[in-house]
Amino acid sequence: MSKKLLFVISSIIVVFVIFAFSVKITENMNDAKLMNDYTYQSIDNGIKKPTVKALEYHRTQVNKWLLGLVLSFIVPFALLISGFSSYIRDLSFKRTGVVFLAFFIYFLIYECITTIVELPFDYYGSFVLKHLYGLSNQTLLKWILDLIENLAITVIVGSVFIYFVYTLMRRVPNLWWLVLGILMIPIIAFVTLVSPMYIDPIFNKYCKIQDVTLENKINFELKRVGIEKCNVYEVNKSIDTNEMNAYMTGILNSKRIVIWDTTLKKLTDREVLCILAHEMGHYVMNHIWKGIILGGVLSIFIFYLVNKAALFVIGNSNFGFNKIYDMASLPLIIILLNLCMFIISPAINSYSRHVEHEADVFELELTKDNDAAVSSTVKLHQNSLILPSPGIIYKLWNYDHPTFKERVEFENMYKPWENGQELNYKKYIKSDM
Ligand SMILES: [Zn+2]
Repeated sequence: MSKKLLFVISSIIVVFVIFAFSVKITENMNDAKLMNDYTYQSIDNGIKKPTVKALEYHRTQVNKWLLGLVLSFIVPFALLISGFSSYIRDLSFKRTGVVFLAFFIYFLIYECITTIVELPFDYYGSFVLKHLYGLSNQTLLKWILDLIENLAITVIVGSVFIYFVYTLMRRVPNLWWLVLGILMIPIIAFVTLVSPMYIDPIFNKYCKIQDVTLENKINFELKRVGIEKCNVYEVNKSIDTNEMNAYMTGILNSKRIVIWDTTLKKLTDREVLCILAHEMGHYVMNHIWKGIILGGVLSIFIFYLVNKAALFVIGNSNFGFNKIYDMASLPLIIILLNLCMFIISPAINSYSRHVEHEADVFELELTKDNDAAVSSTVKLHQNSLILPSPGIIYKLWNYDHPTFKERVEFENMYKPWENGQELNYKKYIKSDM
């Protein structure tokens, strides 16, 4: 490794340590502020004083995020500098002369190693902690099955994708990042189209919503906003979690509204309708399509940076490969992708928060039901032990929705129809039917 590269890596480590300390400091300050802001058990705008349990749980989430970040760099880095990556490459090619199969074997070994190394962390973070704080009923067997199914899908889909990317790198070494970035738009669209129909049902059971009265109410709202041919499903998420959610997903003929059964059990019809109105807002404002196109454009930018950085690293190191399109470079590409995503995620989250706020505005304009909007938001967040607001750095890097506090304050306040003011999204809503 050249001195130049060593300097770059050391600098990144120093910056990350400072970053982690800053996160912890801003979180402590935020905890103190919350205790100060919510001194009484009285309810402020519908938000109760955060419990000790919620504060503790939030702290575990912050630690989990920081540790996960470290692992996402350390594991591929270890595979890279130990020379293990080039060892797996040689092993894969020894087993088969078919290039695609070699990629498959390489990626299978790579994913198995990563999964095993990260297993204790995953188990603690996504199983033990969730049970400890009463957020999950999942059995260990279901957790293990989900893990194996996830691994299988990642290896199958991932190896096809990686084979495709590396072929592109070899064929058009100077412009692969541009071609791939442009192709990401149809690829993301295809995944969005296919996953609700073929991937999601692998993990949970989806069926048409059983409550006919609620279904009629939902269909009435769908008609009011002009969404046609949209099925409403419920999914048995209660076997995995006590948390609540509902969403609209898919594109073209895979579009559907999905409500977790936990949500149907814990929320009133009015509250469910508010959540779905928010989802319909995403749909009519084309947030899914905008997301797909933005994803493609961002990919071009990210792949460009990854290409530049990878060439720099390869030129200043000896990890057992000297071309970017050598499959042994995969851990390097993954490190660089993680690094780019880390740098860019505050911008992506900020855009997402903006879009989520638009959907909240739409929800209120469609339902004009501030009370149910507030109570659904409060139930959803307090049930998941989410704090009214997190520390600023944690928010920038992790919040793709406005904070709980921001959403409730807005939902309490926004009533333009009461003063005869024009609605922002009038054009999407058919006048009262
Ligand atoms: Zn949303």
